[in-house]
Amino acid sequence: MRDNESLDPADWSDLRALGHRMMDDMFDHLANLREGPVWRPMPDASRQQLRRALPREPTPAGSVYQQFQRLVQPYATGNLHPRFMGWVHGGGNPVGMLAELLAGGLNANLGGRDHAPIEIERQVIAWSAEMLGFPASASGVLVTGTSIANLIGVLVARSASLGPSVRHRGVADAGLVAYTSAAAHGCLPRAMEMAGLGREALRMIPCDDQGRMRRDALARRVAEDRAKGMSPFLLVGTAGTVDIGAIDDLDALADFAAEQSLWFHVDGAFGAIAALAPKLRPLLAGIERADSVAFDFHKWAQVPYDAGCILVRDGSRQLETFGAEAAYLRREQRGLAGGGVWPCDLGPDLSRGFRALKVWMTLSVYGADRIGSIAQQTCDLAAAMAAMIDREPALRRLAPVALNIVCFRYIAAEGDLDRLNADIVADLQESGIAAPSTTIVDGALAIRAAIVNHRTNHADLTITIDAILRAGHARATAAKKMPPAIHRGQGYREASRLGDAGTKGPFPATSAETLAAVLP
Ligand SMILES: *Cc1c(COP(=O)(O)O)cnc(C)c1O
Repeated sequence: MRDNESLDPADWSDLRALGHRMMDDMFDHLANLREGPVWRPMPDASRQQLRRALPREPTPAGSVYQQFQRLVQPYATGNLHPRFMGWVHGGGNPVGMLAELLAGGLNANLGGRDHAPIEIERQVIAWSAEMLGFPASASGVLVTGTSIANLIGVLVARSASLGPSVRHRGVADAGLVAYTSAAAHGCLPRAMEMAGLGREALRMIPCDDQGRMRRDALARRVAEDRAKGMSPFLLVGTAGTVDIGAIDDLDALADFAAEQSLWFHVDGAFGAIAALAPKLRPLLAGIERADSVAFDFHKWAQVPYDAGCILVRDGSRQLETFGAEAAYLRREQRGLAGGGVWPCDLGPDLSRGFRALKVWMTLSVYGADRIGSIAQQTCDLAAAMAAMIDREPALRRLAPVALNIVCFRYIAAEGDLDRLNADIVADLQESGIAAPSTTIVDGALAIRAAIVNHRTNHADLTITIDAILRAGHARATAAKKMPPAIHRGQGYREASRLGDAGTKGPFPATSAETLAAVLP
């Protein structure tokens, strides 16, 4: 007889069998991704079924799992699928999935103390430093993503500029101003807000026609601010802009930052992983000179969500910014409270999960070179897609392809092209065939294909382009009352068959006929 109410079962056999089944089901799901739609909208009835009062009574795990299978799994984001090209989403990987299970099993708290999971995180940070050419003395922590990593970068730069006393006194009216490109990610102005500096203190410097920050404009703005008595403290370069994948001239920015005594931070959310691909690495030249770099493992490195990283060249700066003093976090020379600097001394989180394990296992099992060659593969695919678009009179490319992102639009003789292209993208997403997203390039709404997923192949590009042409043609030529060009949830089965063929064979030849088969 048990004398307590532990949540562990008295007999493990049922839960063990369920766990094995879940694992088998999820492997099947991964193995058969191509046979399903990229995405399907969640029906209202299903949403409704999820809404219920706090469950006071138990429900058997098997039936809760059935709810997951029926109500959750079919309506996920779709970023596992090879034809998900929206935003910049990673595809995850099966080894990372298993690592999540192991990490959940250990339920380690990586805020601090002396244990092996923290050693794994320290190893991941050391590998990150090695990848980017940072010294071994660099420090860092894993966080949810680059948004928080950038915030940490801004906070470390802030205390490097004002001194650690900013932690007691606040920023008052120090007049701190920072600089980044007009193409920088929206989380940077937010980081400035959260750091108490205000988003207006982030100067958005115009870009050249390749999407890189203009140095002349930067120098002018810094001089103007100094003349007004402001205190420039931070320069943020971007390695891989979210719109078009542009990479700032990081070496030139490092020179400028040194000359002007600015903290040099790089937002390398996805682009930093280019350091693992020998042909791409030169594009990042100068990143090794940054004071701090924020990047994600969950995008181009294919680690399951979430896993971002902040690296700081001079580890003492990071410690000064976040070092924790509370009595209940007292360190000892020996025992579990030992272990030196704890991760909670390097960022805002105290309790932290074991995200390091999925990064460590992904890098260990596949090898960093393989992750680099996946990044290269997505760039090669983007170049092939750009070439297909350039050959197609009905499509026009709107931006150079620096890495793995292609921006283009469907061209029609008349009508509102922004509306038309937004409709084409929504048609494609709802058809389940492919999921690009949109952005604005020079004032024009662009169809944006960001190829990030290791599963994407040439056939996926053909299928996507053909579906865009069909949808565009149907919408552009049809009378206003014409039904949508592609019907919801149809066409993806045929597309899957073609995609499968494409994994084995060469680039399929056609456009028109393939699509005639694919679309109703
Ligand atoms: C994705 C992205 C971010 C935000 O990263 P999260 O991991 O989503 O927080 C920041 N900057 C760039 C350039 C990005 O592509």
